[in-house]
Amino acid sequence: MHEASLAQGLLRVALESVSAYNREHPEALAGRITSLKLGLGLLSCVEATTFSGCFELLAEGTPAEGARLDIEREPLPCVCGTCNTHFELVQRKFVCPNCGSQDISFTGGHGLTLLGLEVENTNSSNT
Ligand SMILES: [Zn+2]
Repeated sequence: MHEASLAQGLLRVALESVSAYNREHPEALAGRITSLKLGLGLLSCVEATTFSGCFELLAEGTPAEGARLDIEREPLPCVCGTCNTHFELVQRKFVCPNCGSQDISFTGGHGLTLLGLEVENTNSSNT
């Protein structure tokens, strides 16, 4: 399943960044991932609800268990082949906003990227 393998890859990246952080900050260890910010490419056919469900299952028993997923659509950078205007598409409507041409080119837009994550320090909440 598409979403499951993406979720697995994302989880691995998230857990790796937490261990990298912990190696550099042994005095303030990150215990738990509280939220993940994700950028979803405009052309990617990932269904956000399915993806969250897969991630939740995979994250069980890891420091990312119960983390909140913030999924936002990433605008797609495009260039118009007629008037050479650079613009960003936020909808799947491939028309140049400047001249109305449909001769536009773009690269990417299919992926799911980890934009950032929030962690909870193991020893910060105890007073
Ligand atoms: Zn144009």
